[in-house]
Amino acid sequence: MFSVSSAYEVASNLREELRGNTGSSRGAERDSRTWKRTWALKIKAKLKHFVWRVYKGWIAVNSALNKRGIKVDEQSKRCGEGLEKIEHVSFHCRKSILIWKMSSVQWDGIQHLTESFPDWWDKLREARASEDFTARLEISVYTLWQIWKSRNSWLFEEKETEPLLIAQRALNEWNEFKPVHPQTNVPTQSISSEEGTQGWRCPESGMVRINVSSFRGASNGGTGIGLVMRHENGGLVLAKPSLLEATQSSLSAELESIRMGLQEAQGRGLKKVEMQIDEMNIVMWLQRQIRPIAEVMAIVDDI
Ligand SMILES: [Zn+2]
Repeated sequence: MFSVSSAYEVASNLREELRGNTGSSRGAERDSRTWKRTWALKIKAKLKHFVWRVYKGWIAVNSALNKRGIKVDEQSKRCGEGLEKIEHVSFHCRKSILIWKMSSVQWDGIQHLTESFPDWWDKLREARASEDFTARLEISVYTLWQIWKSRNSWLFEEKETEPLLIAQRALNEWNEFKPVHPQTNVPTQSISSEEGTQGWRCPESGMVRINVSSFRGASNGGTGIGLVMRHENGGLVLAKPSLLEATQSSLSAELESIRMGLQEAQGRGLKKVEMQIDEMNIVMWLQRQIRPIAEVMAIVDDI
């Protein structure tokens, strides 16, 4: 998994956005604003309720149960290193720290606010609603939700799941609810008279959708990549699996499959291509929202 080092950028934006907003009282007005903005997020309704319950301290962590007169050990059983408040479960429990590290969304710039979930949440949801920022915010809610679920399955079912897997579940759940379809224009300079021999030609107005995906553990022990090209009416244009060398990271495999997809599209003289990309970091990179890492640069320069 790849850490998006956007903390500095986010912190700077937040500083600008929130200058003059001290908001330390938790009055009805603040609640009302938070509720409205939380509800406006394009996430599953149950997650809007979930984050609202967390915000209001209505989640049944041990310290909250004690406040309601239910006697439980207030210590976090999972790590034994602190009172189990919602902030502990969400951010500071040993497992939660690992899950956030594996997440594609990092909010290091506002780390100090994690002592109070309401402060943390209000800082985030009051920031400027750029598309990229909103996506990160949404993924964060799915991450919090998965962290909470993993706490419960550990506590009640004694099930332990890898932090990376939990972070990926959050990203998948977000992706399923709100798919990302960045549009990529393919250059057309290489159209030749030979292209008819491919047996298929995209209509001028037609849109072709390319799905690329990569997976580890292919039959040769290496990384497999898959490329599926469909016409907008659903008709299959091309389905092409390939194998890469075993040493490929999943990021470079994903990029390799994108390059393959673009080459195939270019070879067919396609003008309108919609590419579906699973890897959120690449999508963000393509939208020029994050600083590319060296590995990405090397491959994309070559496209
Ligand atoms: Zn803990």
